[in-house]
Amino acid sequence: MYRQYVALLISFALMGCSTPPSEASPAAAISTLDAGFDAKAQRKLEKQFDSYLNPDNLREWMKHMSSKPHHVGSPWSKQNAEYIAAKFEEWGYETEIEQFDVLLPIPKVRLLEMVSPTRFTAELKEPVLEEDATSSVMEDRLPGYNAYSADGDVTAELVYVNYGIPADYEILERQGIDVKGKIVIARYGGSWRGIKPKVAYEKGAIGCIIFSDPRDDGYMQGDVYPEGPYRMKHGIQRGSVVDMPMYPGDPLTPGYGAVDGAKRLDYKEAPTIMKIPVLPISYADAQPLLEAMQGPVAPASWRGALPITYHLGPGPSTVHLKLEFEWKLRTAYNPVGRMVGNQYPDEWVMRGNHHDGWVFGASDPISGMVSLMEEARAVGELVKTGWRPKRTIIYAGWDAEEPGLLGSTEWVEHHKRELSEKMVAYINTDGTSRGFLGISGSHTLEKFVNEVREEVDDPLVDASLQERLRARMMVNGSKYADRKDLPIGALGAGSDYTPFLHHAGIASLNMGMGGEAGGGSYHSVYDSFDHYTRFMDPTFEYGVTLAKSTGRVTLRLADTDVLPFRFTNFVDHVTQYAKELKEFAVEIREKTKHNNTLVDQNAYSLAAHPDKTYVSPIKLDSVPLFDFSPIDNALARLRTSANRYEVALTNNIKKGGRPSGDEAQNLNQILMKSERAMMREEGLPRRDWFKHMIYAPGLYTGYGVKTLPGIREGLEERKWDEVNLFIGEVAAALNRVADDLDRATSLL
Ligand SMILES: [Zn+2]
Repeated sequence: MYRQYVALLISFALMGCSTPPSEASPAAAISTLDAGFDAKAQRKLEKQFDSYLNPDNLREWMKHMSSKPHHVGSPWSKQNAEYIAAKFEEWGYETEIEQFDVLLPIPKVRLLEMVSPTRFTAELKEPVLEEDATSSVMEDRLPGYNAYSADGDVTAELVYVNYGIPADYEILERQGIDVKGKIVIARYGGSWRGIKPKVAYEKGAIGCIIFSDPRDDGYMQGDVYPEGPYRMKHGIQRGSVVDMPMYPGDPLTPGYGAVDGAKRLDYKEAPTIMKIPVLPISYADAQPLLEAMQGPVAPASWRGALPITYHLGPGPSTVHLKLEFEWKLRTAYNPVGRMVGNQYPDEWVMRGNHHDGWVFGASDPISGMVSLMEEARAVGELVKTGWRPKRTIIYAGWDAEEPGLLGSTEWVEHHKRELSEKMVAYINTDGTSRGFLGISGSHTLEKFVNEVREEVDDPLVDASLQERLRARMMVNGSKYADRKDLPIGALGAGSDYTPFLHHAGIASLNMGMGGEAGGGSYHSVYDSFDHYTRFMDPTFEYGVTLAKSTGRVTLRLADTDVLPFRFTNFVDHVTQYAKELKEFAVEIREKTKHNNTLVDQNAYSLAAHPDKTYVSPIKLDSVPLFDFSPIDNALARLRTSANRYEVALTNNIKKGGRPSGDEAQNLNQILMKSERAMMREEGLPRRDWFKHMIYAPGLYTGYGVKTLPGIREGLEERKWDEVNLFIGEVAAALNRVADDLDRATSLL
């Protein structure tokens, strides 16, 4: 469940984002490398680590692991878990496979037919291709479906809803088009897929069809498979529609591990399971349905690339959608390997990547998994030479990520108390390919990961990964191309870092190479070894480059005398988020006053529907003035604390060496728990599983992040009490971080 997310984080880095250049931080602050190491010795160790990495291993393991379908509950998922565990064991890790029994529905009946004005039955099949060896493997294969769709048997007229996000319905409403009692047809893109049926249901629709439009994902992007990498006409994007922004993981065990004997909800009562039937289809199957539609012509920006005129409906296309699932518990297998640290065994640095795929999953997730495995093997080689990490390094392969981050979420929920005490940071990877090193994560680690990106070279171009990314940003006119530390993105809910960051308050990173390989295999049968080795990273050199990068992050976190958390960049980002919200509050206040509508009326072209007139604007209650001063005060204080820490650390090390012994351990304990201070135990409104006060996936964007979510969503949803409450809560969180940081400074 990763591709759109990679695209997002790469474009975020390339196009610039809402992060200001660093301001007012002490000029000559010591690097995180020099603060924690004899830099020369550490670089030597890292070179040695690099020398063990071999792209042939990645190729061999991918070929094996992607040879059969390996979704959670399949025999090959178990086999892959055992394969990974055996390797960890062989490389010197204390290894176990942790199991959880989680709900995964698998389809028994899938039927989609148009019953009027003409008859057509959707094929819902991805054909065998001669050029793609595994496309003929049928055993254990999951068909195209959306996991956690409801069972249903519905017949109704179609309405085309574009991407199916709330703004699209505002445009339909102005056309006088109501989806109540209808089946909506939405194209993929514009949001995480689960938002589409969720909003459709809230608007009264009784079914939802999601199709891949060739404009966003097909021949408008480039040559389609097997000639090129892009989605061919029968390619189907599988994927989960579980309500992850409420809580990810097993729908039946919210907040605790799905172990033997755990109390489980009845699946009919699980709040994250979709309430209407949802089915993904190919553009070959979508075209006849869309072609038979009438009603107003769709606005220009809603039109895809099929050779038809896109109409909004309703009808006259009337479809019959019938879906039945087998609702059963399946076992998720998480192989976990530990290299216990020799100085601080109870401080843990964790790396993870999922191993389950929707079908063969060569790119998503095996490309990231084999990179993680090679990194783990190389760390094992270092240990054989007599070196040992000071902290414990843990490698994990997560099962059941695709249906909704189940393997990682259950593991985090089950071990939460211990993780809260011991986990220093979690570093995630997922699918990876050719291109740039994209990084998102906790901004307290932004400076640290920038240093790492400077030290790893691109395998094909004579430049460091940092220089390459900066050059690309310059070409794209990004205003942050000059910033010393290139901004990293904030994390939503696109992969397995979610439970670590948003639920347990563990500083997290997500890293992946991408941006230069065209992809159209996402969650289809054609995400295969053949596709990957032709188009994504044929030599596996970028997979090795990712291992060099994540390996450095892991080795430095595991061995440093002073953990590399720094706070001036974090303050810059949060200051910017607060500024955006203040401006947003003013904007909606002005708009409400003058127009009494939130909708940009220019968004819809009148020319496309001369027979319609606008319905009158919606009346909105006025927006109060909000007092942001608690946040301003807390940020001013945190900036002072962050600068003081930089100065104290720099002076301390320049004067007489790094902290050691108890002093170092006390300092690091404070630093590693700084992310915990950003949490609110009661969580966010309407979703108490999400506890982070700075970041959350958007209720209506899914994977996409909302920063300062309590305030931002209060403004968006016009819940003024929540805005005021969370101004206080965010300020309190920032003050807790400042308290911790002041204690850290006093130790220096
Ligand atoms: Zn993935």
